[in-house]
Amino acid sequence: MTAVGELVPWLPHAGDTLLAMSTPDPELFDKVVNLCKRRGFVYPSAEIYGGFRSTYDYGPLGSLMLRNVKDAWWRSMVQLRDDVVGLDASILSPPQIWEASGHLANFTDPLVDCTNCKTRHRQDNLDDPDTCPSCGKTGTFTEARAFNLMFKTQAGPVEGAGADVYLRPETAQGMFVNFKNIINTTRKKPPFGIAQIGKSFRNEITPGNFVFRTREFEQMELEFFVPPEDADEWYKYWLNERRNWYLDLGIPEDMLMMRPHAEDELSHYSSATADVEFMFPWGWGELEGIANRGDFDLKQHSEHANEKLEFFDQATNERYVPHVIEPAAGATRSMMAFLMAAYDEEIVNDETRTVLRLHPTLAPYKVAVLPLSKKETLRPLAREVLAALQPHFMTEYDETQAIGRRYRRQDEIGTPLCVTVDFDSLEDNAVTVRDRDSMEQVRIPVADVVSHVAGALSR
Ligand code: ATP
Repeated sequence: MTAVGELVPWLPHAGDTLLAMSTPDPELFDKVVNLCKRRGFVYPSAEIYGGFRSTYDYGPLGSLMLRNVKDAWWRSMVQLRDDVVGLDASILSPPQIWEASGHLANFTDPLVDCTNCKTRHRQDNLDDPDTCPSCGKTGTFTEARAFNLMFKTQAGPVEGAGADVYLRPETAQGMFVNFKNIINTTRKKPPFGIAQIGKSFRNEITPGNFVFRTREFEQMELEFFVPPEDADEWYKYWLNERRNWYLDLGIPEDMLMMRPHAEDELSHYSSATADVEFMFPWGWGELEGIANRGDFDLKQHSEHANEKLEFFDQATNERYVPHVIEPAAGATRSMMAFLMAAYDEEIVNDETRTVLRLHPTLAPYKVAVLPLSKKETLRPLAREVLAALQPHFMTEYDETQAIGRRYRRQDEIGTPLCVTVDFDSLEDNAVTVRDRDSMEQVRIPVADVVSHVAGALSR
């Protein structure tokens, strides 16, 4: 595994100190969480009933942005490739799947209770395994017990009489159990992948840090099946691809690192794993795990389902069980990282300007149409501009308040461009386009507005 670090120059070795990296910024956390609530990115769930701990609803802006994160992943992993196909498997799943995958036996966290303050903790997350972080007392923990993180429920109308089913704790198993279907119904052969985006559920002992760790979250996972002898090469390939995805969408290089797992951290079946980590306000945290999983998953399901899950290579007349490289990312957690990386404050004319410098691909609205005043005379042209933009871009329309304040509102939600319709527009049939980052303004004919916006967003 360490050989990979030698071959991939930006990949540090386990235990390396990262001197050139950015440092945590604890104030950023509150600023972004407040902005999310105030502007409609993320609301606490069931808030009118006092909230439902650690569950969140994605509001008008958050639902747009989350969709953009998932679309960007799908575009890069499925649309722009001819060796990956998509899947949307069920969330409810029978125990046999989780028996075979090992989740029923092993998907556990060590849980300890504090006998003094009655709080619960994940033992492996404690700074000091003997001291309770809630009350500060030492020696008050119970023995650790293995707590299974899967949500179990029952299928069927009669409570207690139905069959046990589980909410999937990851999307990955859907790809393994459909391996045969996909080989049989597409013309794909290794190397090829199956990609899936969807909700997963884990009964986390200590959810928290806003949407970083929740019990219901969204994952974006790829299972890439390769001939066994090529697995190491493909593992390195996917490390590079996945790192570039975050950088291309605006995560600064010094806020991102690849952390290879040490030998004792690897799952027994994995020959190499690395986490993509982001500098969150509290320190480094995982965004994605990339693992060389060998043939473990297909073999387990072959055995438990008594089905051959292998590939017959007609060229060589050989039958083999492909190895799997798995890049497994979190959509909700990545969205939080993109928000944190984009948040910026600067002083403009003695006032603080808050700007979300989001990559245009991720910004909830791409453009806002702002008539200079609410006067009836401006409305018809402003609505004409809106109607021209809407088929191409998510467009916001806002006509109340002073124009300066409306620009600030758009800056704060990351809208890359604002189009202002003023009284001169009625004469010259032109509008002003303002850029979020530079605040520069250009005057362009109404007839060119769509092509101008398209060009500016793709720069
Ligand atoms: P962690 O160590 O943070 O619990 P994990 O290693 O168990 O994560 P994986 O099983 O590798 O996570 O899942 C892949 C990705 O799914 C993670 O990198 C993360 O982005 C996301 N993810 C996992 N658990 C959660 C959660 N409870 N809330 C939000 N996202 C999650």
